[in-house]
This record gives sequence, structure tokens and C-alpha cells, in this order.
Amino acid sequence: MRVPTDWMSLGNIPQAVGEPDGDEHPLSNPWCTAATKPVPQKISRFASPESMLAPMGDSPAVPITIRNTWKAVVDHARRYQDFTYVYPVISRRSRGLSIGVNLNPDKQCNFDCVYCEVDRTTPGKARDVRLDQVRDELRWLIDHALSGGLGLEAKFNDAPPEVSRIVRDVAFSGDGEPTMVSNFDECVEVVANVLREKELAETKIVLITDSAGLDKVSVRRGVSLMDAHHGEVWAKLDAGTEEYYRHINRSSVRFDRILSNLLETARVRPIVIQSLFLKTHGQPMSSIELDAYCRRLNQIRDGGGTLREVHAYTLARPTPEAWATRLSAEELSTVAETIRAQTGLRVEEFP
Ligand code: SF4
Repeated sequence: MRVPTDWMSLGNIPQAVGEPDGDEHPLSNPWCTAATKPVPQKISRFASPESMLAPMGDSPAVPITIRNTWKAVVDHARRYQDFTYVYPVISRRSRGLSIGVNLNPDKQCNFDCVYCEVDRTTPGKARDVRLDQVRDELRWLIDHALSGGLGLEAKFNDAPPEVSRIVRDVAFSGDGEPTMVSNFDECVEVVANVLREKELAETKIVLITDSAGLDKVSVRRGVSLMDAHHGEVWAKLDAGTEEYYRHINRSSVRFDRILSNLLETARVRPIVIQSLFLKTHGQPMSSIELDAYCRRLNQIRDGGGTLREVHAYTLARPTPEAWATRLSAEELSTVAETIRAQTGLRVEEFP
């Protein structure tokens, strides 16, 4: 089954930081239920005065309406039915339906960001990535979305059917750091094979990463495989100095390793930088730190790396650390404007 070309003309896009804790719905086991054969329907383009975002990246100039008030935008739970690895979200950064693949149901991460919403006080669901289960869950959810079934569910039924029937991307993003798994390349291969099987040739494969593992052999292999499938690396960079990095990301991974991984990855393909700006103890990032952050971006470019754009965002929900708070839309805009001025890069704001 091939999605009609004009579906894709709505724009093929990049995903979202998800809310980790969601309800598990006591529905039937998806792979024991005969999936409805997807019936593609021609859809119309849509626009709305409430458009939240303009097209970005390599998307065509078509207004994609993603409203912040939709239930599936408000609730980015990484839980779906009784699935372990795969979940759907409507994402502002993906401009529509993004299917997440959580390779860290064990909640393992090599960062400990002050804004992390993953509840690590309770044990994770699974330790290993079972590729056959990832494949089954992904196949079923894609069929379910394309057939319109997802759009009928309570969480998705206030979004236009067009939004929940077009799979913008499949994104490795979960309750931890995807590059920590030992077989990242095999995980990419599973996703690529399912997309090929479903004839979703234009659907992107996105890796949302803290960049600590981008130098691992299996990750390099996996990212190369992604390159052949409209792959995009969305890499976190929240700081310009080691000191601030330790303050915000609280990782034992050296900052220069993160920077080196960003550079080496960006030398091979354009990458997207994702940066969360916030206040700590009521204070936003200092101008000295912001200047240092901009210098890091310039160093990547000067070193031969290509940065496609910067996603500048702030907290969407309260964090476990009460002293970490969000920027206002105006404050985030000021930060974004500084980045544009100092780097010349395209900066998308997600207040
Ligand atoms: S990198 Fe992501 S999952 Fe890891 S601690 Fe930071 S926000 Fe949480």
C-alpha cells in the first residue's frame, strides 16, 4: 500500500520530547487483533488561523496546523496500549504524527538533565530491545494510523484525521538515551525494513540523542543506514561551557567528547541542534554562557560540520527540580535572536 504522493506534499518533517508517564490502556493485544487493512484516502491540505508553526526545513510552503491544545500534543506519553517500545505522538517539531521508538524502556541514560521528566524512582519496563517486538509494534501502529484507526481514539480525535494518518517520521526517542543500546544499527535496520514494507519511502527516521554515543561503531553504522532513509540526527546541546553542561546535563561524559561527536557527525551529514533554555534559581543562561554556546556552534561549522538548524525550546511542564523553570516566549525569542545574530543559523522557536 502506497501513500499517495499528495499526502507527502503536506511536508515531511522532523519529533518531540515526550512526557514519559502515560496511561496504559487495557485494550486488546494489538498483534493478536487482525489489523484493519489501511485504506488510503485522498486528503485536502488545510490551513487555520490557529496555525502554530510555519513550515520549516525542507518542507514545502504548506501551512501545517498543529495546535497546542490538541490532546495528543498536550499529552506526549511514551506509553501506548500494552506496547513496550513504540508509541504515537502529535509533535510540533515533527509537524504531525511521529511514531516514537523507545529503545530505553529500562530508563537508562548517561545524562541526568535537571529538566528530565523520566521518573527513575520506579523500575523500567524491559531491559533488552527485542527486535521482533519492535517490528511487530511498529507494523501494527503504522497500519492503525494509515487506516484512520488512530485518529478515532479519544486522545487523537480532536486533531484533523489528516494529521493522524500521515506518518511524518519514526523517531528513536525514549525514556533514556537511544545510543546506549548495543545494537543500534540493528534497530535502525528494523525500522527501515518496516518503512520499506509499508512503502513509506518518504518517512524520515530521526535519532534524538544527547550525542554521547555517536562515536560508537554500531551507532555510526546505524546513522549511516539512516542517511539512506531520510535520516536526521537531532542532537542535544544545552551549554557552551563544561561548567554549565555539568550544571544542566549533570553527565559524567566529558563535554569535549560531546562536542567532538557533534562535529564528526555533522561532517558527514547535516544535523539539527536541539537546545533547551531555562532558568535555574530564577536566572536565565548568562550572556557569557550564551556567547560560549554560539561559539560552539560556529566551531562545528568552521570545523567542516553542517548544522541544518537549531531547535530552541524551553520547558513545557514543571520539572522534578523546582528551581528549574521555563522561559517566557519573549525570553526564548531573545535567546533565539542572539543565536541567529551570532551564528547566522536558522533557529526554530518552541516556547
Ligand atoms: S538526555 Fe533526555 S532522557 Fe537523558 S536525562 Fe536528559 S532529558 Fe532525560
